[in-house]
Amino acid sequence: KGTLMQGKRGVVMGVANDRSIAWAIAQAVAAQGGEIAFTYQGEALGKRVTPLAASIGSTLVLPCDVSSDEAIDETFSAIEKEWGRIDFVVHAIGWADKQYLRGRFADTPREAFLTALDISCYSFVAVARRAAAMMNPGGSLLTLSYLGAERVMPHYNVMGVAKAALEASVRYMAADFGRDGLRVNAISAGPIKTLAASGIGDFRYILKWNQYNAPLERNVALSEVGGAGLYMLSELSGGVTGEVHHVDSGYHIVGMKNPTAPDI
Ligand code: NAD
Repeated sequence: KGTLMQGKRGVVMGVANDRSIAWAIAQAVAAQGGEIAFTYQGEALGKRVTPLAASIGSTLVLPCDVSSDEAIDETFSAIEKEWGRIDFVVHAIGWADKQYLRGRFADTPREAFLTALDISCYSFVAVARRAAAMMNPGGSLLTLSYLGAERVMPHYNVMGVAKAALEASVRYMAADFGRDGLRVNAISAGPIKTLAASGIGDFRYILKWNQYNAPLERNVALSEVGGAGLYMLSELSGGVTGEVHHVDSGYHIVGMKNPTAPDI
């Protein structure tokens, strides 16, 4: 067991099951001695998260629906009561009505747009503001993004627009919180088969396309996003803020289809 996160405490939000990106990051942090409080959405997920948390020695497991400012305040107040100050926060949360994760982006209704932006972008701002008030200098805030923020991906639609806003929010908050010694970053992960991803139309095709056309000619492993998360939360990335770090087998640098890739 390493000691990179020894003496550090933080909150991991967004574990749904053992395939969640949040869980991969939590495992990497726990393996380095970090102490983690988990938050989940709804009692059904709470039943899944509690044993996972217990498996890495965490007993602080709390509900938090991030669409509510009161819920966010309640959850962080409970953690503050238990621990006082914290050192890191992972926001691995996104949501859009899957009815609109297919077809044309231009057809997204106002209500679906606002909800996607609320859950997938604003919630990070609300969480960061509440958490920052109880974070030690040197602390790190991390969210998860996807290349659909920068380029048009089939079916990603309103989530792409939400991720673009999320990445811009990372930069603005990095500027806001820098003077408190806090860092704000995002990891832009390549496609991974998770619960959230299953809502995206033709996701299997996207996985194959990335596998064939990324420079590494494979998809990323959950543990690789976990490792990058550990880097972003630890002192190893002490000089890094406002960054969107791609962990995608290099797919984001590619301009054209790999000419030797098989047909999908
Ligand atoms: P996941 O389904 O395991 O995690 C998504 C989480 O968001 C779930 O735990 C869910 O409960 C939570 N959530 C949704 N609405 C919420 C709300 N109102 N309040 C609290 N929690 C809420 O899937 P994942 O792929 O691990 O997703 C984590 C993050 O990674 C998301 O932001 C996603 O967009 C991003 N991401 C995923 C991929 C991928 O291919 N899987 C790629 C890049 C980025």
